[in-house]
Amino acid sequence: MGKGCVKMGVEFEPVIGLEIHVELKTKTKIFCGCPMEFGGEPNSHVCPFCLGLPGSLPVLNKQAVEYAVRAGLALNCEIVPYSRFDRKSYFYPDLPSAYQISQFYFYICKGGHLEIEVNGEKKKIRLNRIHLEEDAGKLLHSGSSITTSQYSFADYNRGGSGLIEIVTEPDLRSAEEARIFLEQLRAVIEYTGVSDVKMEEGSLRCDANISLRPAGFSQLGTKTEIKNMNSFKSLERALEYEIERQREVLEDGSVIVQETRGWDEGNGITTSMRTKEEAHDYRYFPDPDLPPIVLEPEWIEGIRATLPELPTAKKERLAKELGLSAYDAGIITGSKALAEFFDECVALFKEPKIVANWLMGEFLSLLNVNNMEIQESKIAPQQLANLLKSQKEGEISGKIAKTVFAEMFASGKDPEVIIKEKGLVQISDEGALAAIVEKIIVANPKSVEDYRGGKKNALGFLVGQVMKETKGQANPGLVNKLLQERLN
Ligand code: ADP
Ligand code: ZN
Ligand code: MG
Repeated sequence: MGKGCVKMGVEFEPVIGLEIHVELKTKTKIFCGCPMEFGGEPNSHVCPFCLGLPGSLPVLNKQAVEYAVRAGLALNCEIVPYSRFDRKSYFYPDLPSAYQISQFYFYICKGGHLEIEVNGEKKKIRLNRIHLEEDAGKLLHSGSSITTSQYSFADYNRGGSGLIEIVTEPDLRSAEEARIFLEQLRAVIEYTGVSDVKMEEGSLRCDANISLRPAGFSQLGTKTEIKNMNSFKSLERALEYEIERQREVLEDGSVIVQETRGWDEGNGITTSMRTKEEAHDYRYFPDPDLPPIVLEPEWIEGIRATLPELPTAKKERLAKELGLSAYDAGIITGSKALAEFFDECVALFKEPKIVANWLMGEFLSLLNVNNMEIQESKIAPQQLANLLKSQKEGEISGKIAKTVFAEMFASGKDPEVIIKEKGLVQISDEGALAAIVEKIIVANPKSVEDYRGGKKNALGFLVGQVMKETKGQANPGLVNKLLQERLN
């Protein structure tokens, strides 16, 4: 299905808004001094405050405020000079104080937008706001859910971690667009350095609100909210499923129930979790233990001055100044680590297109196959640059370069060492090659005859045989020349 879904004459338009939680990479939690480390022995990073014990008091982490402002500036938000914390009451064992400290009435960043590119077209997605809040702990149930379990374990290590929640306006119009938005938002946040933004580790989490309306209508339909998607692909799949489900309900003449639904990755479906709470159910009220956040314009401008070049600007620069295609520039800048690797490599080997091809071809596919991030790879930019130099100078052939690269990837060894150890230096010695050329000619009289009879592509076959004989080490240009000389 494309953007709209046509059936029985009514075309429905999906309307999607996302709520994105980003865990801030501060050293300590947002209201106490406990370390912010992923994992760890359960309940080892806790104190009386983040365990919700009476009598303990919060102290706001300044770096969390700075990070929220930094993210807000990168996303074109208005930074609000006065904001405050509110208590959001809810009772669930992942929240020992039975309220979450969040921002409801006065939040830190207002509005904003991110310009995304979907299939070559630019589109501005508006943000509603960004607010600061604390994270809840993690529960591990003995059964499949809390209601069907005999007992559950509670780990409060994550409880009290600093989060920003980014809320979009309902501007997204397809599952694909939502996935692309989240990917591009992830890149922006990654560039600002305020979070690791890893969906698998939960430092980037996304809930999706989705409704349908007849195409052309401006009024919003009743929405559902989908939770539990832990990859970009599952966000897209969950939305595709939910769009179809809602369309069938509406075509049946029924109505959508406003509710929270969970994505079931294994079965590829969404299921009802609970009917949706309203804001008044949370009994929001100002937290009496925390003073308001008052920001000076100079302080905000100081943060703006330290923002790095962001993905969109960088992408345009790579296309304009280095001649990369928009597509290539988009992939290279889609991850900060990849973009940095590219920059460092190009500084040492000044052929951006060749570097981009290697990164997007060999490198990304090896990372993919091994399910690794570029930061985890053993290859340094300097090593790739050296490999590409060897190829350019004719020391090794393109084919051998790929073999060497795979070896570099596996062992982290320098290309020079691998080339030497394995004796992979390209054979450019005319005498040595002439002997092999002779051997191939004698062994393939039919092809020789074809070539002389006018079938010029027989030459390609013969070059291939020489390459095979030399395990890819012969200099192909030289082989070509020698064969032609010998045959003509
Ligand atoms: P709620 O009160 O249910 O939390 P909000 O108005 O705060 O709803 O919006 C939450 C998210 O849902 C936002 O990203 C918003 O853009 C999106 N949203 C709101 N209404 C709709 C709708 N009818 N269809 C799709 N998305 C919506
Ligand atoms: Zn603590
Ligand atoms: Mg809301």
